Amino acid sequence: MASSSDEIISSEDSRRSVGASSRSDLMPGRVSGFAETPLPQWPNDVARELFRSPSSLVEIIGSRMSYNVSVSSPCSTPYLGPSLAQSCPGSQFLTFMTLLDTFIRAQDKISQLCERVRPVDPPEYYYDFIVVGGGTAGSVVASRLSDIPEWKVLLLEAGPDEPPGAEAPSMVAMFLGSAIDWQYRTVNESNACLATGGSCSWPRGKNLGGTSVHNGMMYTRGHPKDYDNWAAMGNEGWSWNEVLPYFMCSENNTEINRVGRKYHATGGLLNVERFPWRPNISSDILAAAVERGYPLTEDHNGDHFLGFTVAQTTSKDGVRQSSAAAFLRPFRHRRNLQVALNATATKIIIENAKAVGVQYYQVGIPHGEVRTARASREVIVSGGAVNSPQLLLLSGIGPKEHLQAVNVSVVKDLPGVGENLQNHVSFTLSWTINVPNAFELNWASALEYVAFQRGPMSSTGLAQLTGILPSSYTTRDHPDLQFFFGGYQASCATTGEVGALMSDGPRSISISPTNIRPRSRGTLRLASNDPLQKPLIHGNYLSDPMDTAILVEGIQIALSLGNTSALQKYNMTLSNAPLSACSRYQFASNEYWSCAVRQDTGPENHQAGSCKMGPASDHMAVVDPKLRVHGIRGLRVADTSIMPQVISGNTAAPAFMIGERAAAFIKSDWGATETQWYGRGSSSMWKTSTPWKGYHSQ
Ligand SMILES: Cc1cc2nc3c(=O)[nH]c(=O)nc-3n(C[C@H](O)[C@H](O)[C@H](O)COP(=O)(O)OP(=O)(O)OC[C@H]3O[C@@H](n4cnc5c(N)ncnc54)[C@H](O)[C@@H]3O)c2cc1C
Repeated sequence: MASSSDEIISSEDSRRSVGASSRSDLMPGRVSGFAETPLPQWPNDVARELFRSPSSLVEIIGSRMSYNVSVSSPCSTPYLGPSLAQSCPGSQFLTFMTLLDTFIRAQDKISQLCERVRPVDPPEYYYDFIVVGGGTAGSVVASRLSDIPEWKVLLLEAGPDEPPGAEAPSMVAMFLGSAIDWQYRTVNESNACLATGGSCSWPRGKNLGGTSVHNGMMYTRGHPKDYDNWAAMGNEGWSWNEVLPYFMCSENNTEINRVGRKYHATGGLLNVERFPWRPNISSDILAAAVERGYPLTEDHNGDHFLGFTVAQTTSKDGVRQSSAAAFLRPFRHRRNLQVALNATATKIIIENAKAVGVQYYQVGIPHGEVRTARASREVIVSGGAVNSPQLLLLSGIGPKEHLQAVNVSVVKDLPGVGENLQNHVSFTLSWTINVPNAFELNWASALEYVAFQRGPMSSTGLAQLTGILPSSYTTRDHPDLQFFFGGYQASCATTGEVGALMSDGPRSISISPTNIRPRSRGTLRLASNDPLQKPLIHGNYLSDPMDTAILVEGIQIALSLGNTSALQKYNMTLSNAPLSACSRYQFASNEYWSCAVRQDTGPENHQAGSCKMGPASDHMAVVDPKLRVHGIRGLRVADTSIMPQVISGNTAAPAFMIGERAAAFIKSDWGATETQWYGRGSSSMWKTSTPWKGYHSQ
């Protein structure tokens, strides 16, 4: 599926290349300071057999059961998203991917088919709480609320359960563009995505686990100042010191000896680790950063936010850990937690300014059905930065003039709904390198992964590298540039030949400098009052000239990395072709790049802000600091849409934290007994966090 891999290249997870100004104010770190993960040895006799593909694979499976490779799972489930089979071009790949998908499904350590939640169909009518959206934040909310046995919780998810093929980290983004992607696009961009008609692609997960099933798994919380700024805007309880315990209570960091307990914890539901495999060129790229005077850091979520690193990821022993895997599967036996799949909320039912239920459309055989469920206590909307404001608007909560224009009855005139829409913005630079363009996804890597969850398929290749730096437009204590990398990803070959060259051309790698503190703001509006019609999203990227200036500085830094002795042996050659739309500028001049970022904009995937949190005095605030919708009782929003300003880093970790925070507010407001958290973190941290007493896992 070429579009999927293109998608990831143009967005966050594969990527990108280089840069150039050396900055003496940044202290270089030590490359040798990086802990290497020991890799398992592949037995020689098995390795030899593996290359006699494809029939040898089946032989091996038959004769090598000690490797725990099987072709069928004892647990079947009809509720899964699509197979990997259709995700690569070429008939040979169809066979290969079909087999791979079959083996992944059969390997319970990867697919967890025996641990999946069993959805209810039809759901019941009465619940205490209804959570809309079983995504990154919503799964956390539903899981934590169902800690209270007396509370009956319904989780409504518009898509199916996550496909087993998505659990292999190298298959990141393979399902974008498929039925489990909402496939949004922005409209009317006058400063961005001009090469694609002013429309930027915005993939979003439509499945249990939401976008955490499609993302690059990078675990980055953002800068403490991001949260202190939220608090300064009147959001009491959201300063860095106050949110940190909610990051930590989710966390089971398997590298605690490396990252330490000051900011990390063990014993939580969400596994955080480094992938077990990375390409050798990674250390040369880090050396290039040092050569240019940039620091290395062991941990972007620790005391050293600045610098380049191999990121930690939300994965467990080489397998993706989505929010559904972490927060729902352990509690699949809870009778008070019911999950409805393929169920799209179409309207929040509001009576006397109180949310009392949800109307939803559930796909069924032979026909879908419009159904209703009532919530005696609260409805929590966790549809993400696009769907949450859309659902509020469909329910009559939003700017009055807009609701009237699309024939939606006004329930609450709330002008901030769909405003303040933000996203990071990037540009991708690509280089060819003089390394054979061997293909990482082949019979050997596939079986190594199925048997041991190791090797190229257990990682995202170069996309696990990242760097965070300040441009000259900010200060060191609040950086505004992040660098994402791409290449060496074990996914489809464009030739369609398994184990052949990935393409006829040379191997490429990429760096995507990204502006992580954008000033531009967009909007979201309904196209009509049809709940199943996509909303009109106007990203309004690069409308503030400063966003372009910062991005161009990031491009220069990225270019300088390619021009280092550490990377000289690769003979890196910039492969971005001059754009005819920018031919009036000298190629590679700052003016040229300012033009190019408008043409080939990297729209990123960190959408936020469209249901902004703020005090009642802020008339553009949608939810208050306890995430309650202003003016409507019994209704909260919990996902990245509540961020008043997008954080300066990837947004999944904050989404988990927002889910934890929402559940804690709800428990506290309803006088639920505090439960015990079994995890371990820095004790001094717990003492400073007065509102938080901890959770338990069951
Ligand atoms: C390709 C890609 C790569 C990324 N890489 C990273 C990364 O490496 N690290 C990182 O930190 N972040 C990354 N992100 C961003 C991050 O994953 C998201 O910001 C985060 O997961 C969003 O969480 P959320 O809870 O706000 O929304 P989501 O996780 O999108 O959850 C929303 C859920 O609600 C459901 N839903 C929506 N509307 C309805 C409705 N009406 N009824 C029922 N259900 C509904 C959706 O189907 C979905 O399951 C990436 C994103 C993408 C797309």
